[in-house]
Amino acid sequence: MDLRRKLPTRPPSSSSTKSAVDRSTSPVPKASDALPLPLYLTNGIFFTLFFSVAYYLLHRWRDKIRSSTPLHVVTLSELAAIVSLIASFIYLLGFFGIDFVQSFIATSPRGDDCDEVDDSFDTVAEQSKDFINMKDPNYIINTKDPNYSYLLSEDDEQIVNEVVRGSVPSYSLESKLGDCFRAASVRRRALERATGRSLVGLPLDGFDYEAILGQCCEMPVGYVQLPVGIAGPLLLNGCEYMVPMATTEGCLVASANRGCKAIFSSGGATVILLKDGMTRAPVVRFATSERASQLKFFLEDAVNFDTLSVVFNKSSRFARLQNIRCSIAGKNLYIRFTCSTGDAMGMNMVSKGVQNVLDFLQNDFPDMDVIGISGNFCSDKKPAAVNWIEGRGKSVVCEAVVTEDVVKKVLKTTVPALVELNMLKNLTGSAVAGALGGFNAHAANIVSAVFIATGQDPAQNIESSHCITMMEAVNNGKDLHVSVTMPSIEVGTVGGGTQLASQSACLNLLGAKGSNRESPGSNARLLATVVAGSVLAGELSLMSAIAAGQLVKSHMKYNRSNRDIASTV
Ligand code: ADP
Repeated sequence: MDLRRKLPTRPPSSSSTKSAVDRSTSPVPKASDALPLPLYLTNGIFFTLFFSVAYYLLHRWRDKIRSSTPLHVVTLSELAAIVSLIASFIYLLGFFGIDFVQSFIATSPRGDDCDEVDDSFDTVAEQSKDFINMKDPNYIINTKDPNYSYLLSEDDEQIVNEVVRGSVPSYSLESKLGDCFRAASVRRRALERATGRSLVGLPLDGFDYEAILGQCCEMPVGYVQLPVGIAGPLLLNGCEYMVPMATTEGCLVASANRGCKAIFSSGGATVILLKDGMTRAPVVRFATSERASQLKFFLEDAVNFDTLSVVFNKSSRFARLQNIRCSIAGKNLYIRFTCSTGDAMGMNMVSKGVQNVLDFLQNDFPDMDVIGISGNFCSDKKPAAVNWIEGRGKSVVCEAVVTEDVVKKVLKTTVPALVELNMLKNLTGSAVAGALGGFNAHAANIVSAVFIATGQDPAQNIESSHCITMMEAVNNGKDLHVSVTMPSIEVGTVGGGTQLASQSACLNLLGAKGSNRESPGSNARLLATVVAGSVLAGELSLMSAIAAGQLVKSHMKYNRSNRDIASTV
């Protein structure tokens, strides 16, 4: 039996305009709706069966007492009567039990005085009515309708009730059902029912839920769609790249594309990878600062490095310890391990290596109290000077000389205007603002769009967007030298979201998909250079728009939804 059915639903507008009176009259779907016979008939049959066999058995019981026959000696007809009694009892108990619980659930979140309840919940109820309509051969299922939804089998509706009741934990659905799509469908319906809110518009179908199990997302109920735009070709070190950017910010891709054109027309950009090492810094505590210092000296002594490397590198064939830096706060020691991680972004890998070293150190420092595997000196997903100064992940510098002609024709501004704006905005302005790594116009815009398209951890956008943009007039003041220096781009091409179909396709477009077998790590390094090159293009274009006074005009044209404006004014 096909457990998943997709049905067209009414447009949300019609349901969202329903009045509270309409709502109170809308039938709430019940498990009993799916019975093959009319409800009164099924109930009648089981009631009759229950009372007639009960009467028969009591009669037989009385006869046996009179004739002194032992009660446990039963004839075939008595056995059949007992089985029928039990069966009808189970049916009646199950039926009324479920309906009682359902009536309870249906009334509690949707009481008349509950103004917060989303009217579109009615759409869900109506979809369930449509389930019955499917028996009509003229019923047309339009799966292309963006408002179509899903319907569940009787068994799954039963599980939905158990999830809403709390007797089946939502997180256990994947293991209980052994089917990730089914689990997501049941969880979603339970969520809609428990909250009284519709999820119409959040797609469910068309996603591989097996692929995210145990590694990308827990308790899924659907997926969010994002458009992917393409900027390019980006000419970097003589190679052309078409850059995928996932964003909902109008102008962004167009702007990066214009920057790519300016770079291309000027002969391309040069990109250099300066460093490649992921970090993790646990915090450990001692009874005295003296003991903490002893461990610091031990860890930073070059004599011990080889031994510590052997212990650390056991975590993975790709993990190679590069250095250990320590910082003390009283009797607490923060130990920053840096290691190469191949094509992985590397957080898991470096954490495993750190755990190995901590276990090893307990032999010589049994009084060391490990407070946490991460003590924030790493520093992951937070703005921190340590990443800005020391680097984290990939440290990259990218430069280009954009000719006077291109600045004029493609970027519609002048070299002196760009140089002045860069000085006063990206350098002085950011200094005035007390920026940490934010000496740029909008590096984070480009970084997050490329990160999302290629399956990176979007939270690492924070340190990955640290960037200083420099602009200088060269060749007797005619041309523009522009560069971006980014010390902490954290990217990988294996692990995490990179293996999912859409993200993997975007990596493939860049020629950086998965693990590089000939030279492990070069795919991730390539991705980091493409990120820096794209940031260079983005900086050039936005700075030019600001210098030429075009920013507000272009955003009014491309970054404002007329539909929204029309509906709100
Ligand atoms: P992260 O450390 O970025 O969180 P994962 O631990 O999820 O990444 O993924 C890294 C896994 O991929 C490791 O098990 C590693 O052995 C494997 N792997 C396969 N090929 C490579 C490669 N070229 N570089 C790094 N890791 C690789």
